[in-house]
Amino acid sequence: MDAGARFIIDKLQKAGIEAAVVGGAVRDEVMNQTPKDVDIAAKAEVSSLVDVFPSARRVGRQTESLLVKACGTVYEVTPYKGDGTLKDDLAHRDFTMNAMAILIDGTIYDPFHGKFDIQSRKLACPGACSDRLEEDPLRLLRAFRFQAVYHFQFSRELASAVQKQLPWFDQVAAERVGEEWKKLLSSPYAVAALKQMAHSGVFASLLKQNKRVAFTYYEGVDPSLSLWANWPGIWWSLNCSSQETRRGLKNLARPSQEVQNTVRLIDWVLWREVNDWTAETLYQAGWSLVEAAEHWLRVRTPGAAYDHCELKYMYHKLPIQTRADLPVDGIRLMKLCNRSGGAWIEDVLRSVEKEVLNNRLQLEREAVEAFIQEEWT
Ligand code: ATP
Ligand code: MG
Repeated sequence: MDAGARFIIDKLQKAGIEAAVVGGAVRDEVMNQTPKDVDIAAKAEVSSLVDVFPSARRVGRQTESLLVKACGTVYEVTPYKGDGTLKDDLAHRDFTMNAMAILIDGTIYDPFHGKFDIQSRKLACPGACSDRLEEDPLRLLRAFRFQAVYHFQFSRELASAVQKQLPWFDQVAAERVGEEWKKLLSSPYAVAALKQMAHSGVFASLLKQNKRVAFTYYEGVDPSLSLWANWPGIWWSLNCSSQETRRGLKNLARPSQEVQNTVRLIDWVLWREVNDWTAETLYQAGWSLVEAAEHWLRVRTPGAAYDHCELKYMYHKLPIQTRADLPVDGIRLMKLCNRSGGAWIEDVLRSVEKEVLNNRLQLEREAVEAFIQEEWT
């Protein structure tokens, strides 16, 4: 238990409130990993917690909880769920590995044998799996997310409960679904988890899509890529067009920049399947998109993709990589052409970029300004 958590639990105990570290942080400690965030559960109503930490912020997820700052870190302190005992709080958590607690004396309270399941690399629920999934259908997706993180097997009971629980999944809040997908796609065993999702027939439902898995493009998912660069593999597996992908991602409440990047990527890959890069198109797409597009080309049309080193060389050989590399900017243009700002600046800069990229114009201030004066004044 870290110093901040000890401080908070100590303070609660002094006020007569039993409390313990719970959830993912306990799992991480058992697995010798550093927790991302530490949750604390306490035997009290939120109002009593507020009495102990009057300056803490109240937040509401499913249950109300408090964000308490200690030793420079923020801890979420939540009242025990269920009948008000620690054991019952743990009984309502998603998986046995998340249903352990660290008590104030540092001992681990593990009534559902989470440690044993971690050692046997098994994902199981505290109590009846079908009840746990019914309580909160998001756990269905979380099961695959944890599989993507740890490569654990589902217990037999969990595997069969997953199949039965699908119809409920629609009722889960889009943001929570989107966040779990995000974690899944950036976890080391993402492809293994996706394969099991496809084989157990839950893949499309977990994307809230009424479709079938038509391709195995999900096998091209690479956790080291940015999230936007991984999404195509998921939607292509369902044979979604770029517009269907846009809608699907919006339905999962993904940020608009991410959606835009993904759709742009899809369009570039489809373009690239029938065209080769030119200096102009490499420049237009930009390096991260070029790199991601070639990744998917390698998956979809092996043999058509460039070797990564060669591609990098081609890109870095471009006379300019961004507009900032030009020796003139909008302000200089206004002076040069004696005009006030407007859409024409974009046209001029584009024409300069085009000439420079095609090696018809030297990347020197004098040459570029002479070109502008000749063509645009
Ligand atoms: P991460 O390492 O990604 O933070 P985590 O297990 O801590 O994983 P959180 O979403 O931070 O996941 O949730 C914290 C804890 O709250 C979990 O360990 C689990 O005990 C509990 N929890 C979260 N979501 C659910 C859920 N849908 N159903 C039941 N328990 C949940
Ligand atoms: Mg957590």
